[in-house]
Amino acid sequence: MSVLAERIAALVRAHGPLDVGRFMLLCAAHREGYYGRGPEFGVEGDFVTAPELSQIFGELLGLACIAHWRASGRPQAIRLVELGPGSGTLLFDLWRALATDPACRAAVRSVELVEASAALRERQRQRLSGLPLVFHSAVDQLPDDLPLLVIANEFFDALPMRQYVCTAEGLRERVVVVDAHGRLAFALHPHPLPKAALADPRLGDLAEGAVVELAPAREAVAAILAAKLRRAGGLALVIDYGYVDRPSGDTLQAVLRHARVDPLAHPGQADLSSHVDFRALATAARGEGIAVYGPIAQATFLERLGIRLRLSRLCARASPEQARRLEQGVARLVDPAHMGELFRVLALVAPQDPVPPGFVAGEMWR
Ligand code: SAH
Repeated sequence: MSVLAERIAALVRAHGPLDVGRFMLLCAAHREGYYGRGPEFGVEGDFVTAPELSQIFGELLGLACIAHWRASGRPQAIRLVELGPGSGTLLFDLWRALATDPACRAAVRSVELVEASAALRERQRQRLSGLPLVFHSAVDQLPDDLPLLVIANEFFDALPMRQYVCTAEGLRERVVVVDAHGRLAFALHPHPLPKAALADPRLGDLAEGAVVELAPAREAVAAILAAKLRRAGGLALVIDYGYVDRPSGDTLQAVLRHARVDPLAHPGQADLSSHVDFRALATAARGEGIAVYGPIAQATFLERLGIRLRLSRLCARASPEQARRLEQGVARLVDPAHMGELFRVLALVAPQDPVPPGFVAGEMWR
């Protein structure tokens, strides 16, 4: 058993079953947890994210930042924010693209990073040396004195979510226990949820055996971010894999060296995540009085931002081998069989701001 598996088993023995959300949080943020230990991202690591696949991803987000800055009246001072910057690659590419509009880049007073992992902060500091970095461990610490341009790629999927299973006795929470062999196992909480807890419409009218996932921690982050955007002005682009409407289903997944594994088998060694409920994020954000656009497919978003043009420009001055790699990277970003359709983009926009880049007016959430 890993160090963290022992710790979690001890915790369960002392305090009783853990809900899936607390299990996810321990596996991610604990010193011995996945992000706490400072994982590698990309082919060398356990999973590949869009910025690790292609430099064009971060560059296009940089161009989107410039476009939004211009369309919102070229504010003299803004703050650039990234939630969960990983290895820092996305921001590295984004910052280089910002140089194409020196006035926009000069307006960036600070680059605010929300990162819980000390090991990853160190890596981000090295990768992004020279940028005016400020670190936070949670979204509520972000300033809201100046307009914000926020990027969150594969951040929300890593935040905790909880699972409920519909049984003949009512809804019971899925929890982590220690089995007779001393191993971590899933079980159902002995007591069904009280009636008062069932006010959420997502918990009504379910077939027996159905699994519902609720992520109050993710919704809270979306609401906090939205409230900051309302006060400060600006835009947040949330890019993640997920759905708008999904009747039920268990989407908890663990990935170790590019393969799906049992979520309980490698605590702290495998990356745990689950599909993001975009309707829930949009509803939480709109509740704070801001506009929400999308979600639209990542492929659509990147095509509209000019991924083809950028690719052909880069290929024109690349070696045949480099050009092949650039083309492969772009194909994986936009191909429906890879990330193109599963990954989606949701935009949270301050009420005083224009339609965000990559979206059209009709995509506003009503
Ligand atoms: N955006 C990066 C990395 C995604 S991995 C990329 O696209 O490559 C998820 C990131 O979110 C990591 O940096 C991780 O340390 C951070 N993270 C996960 N849970 C977090 C939490 N609860 N609070 C703050 N950061 C968290």
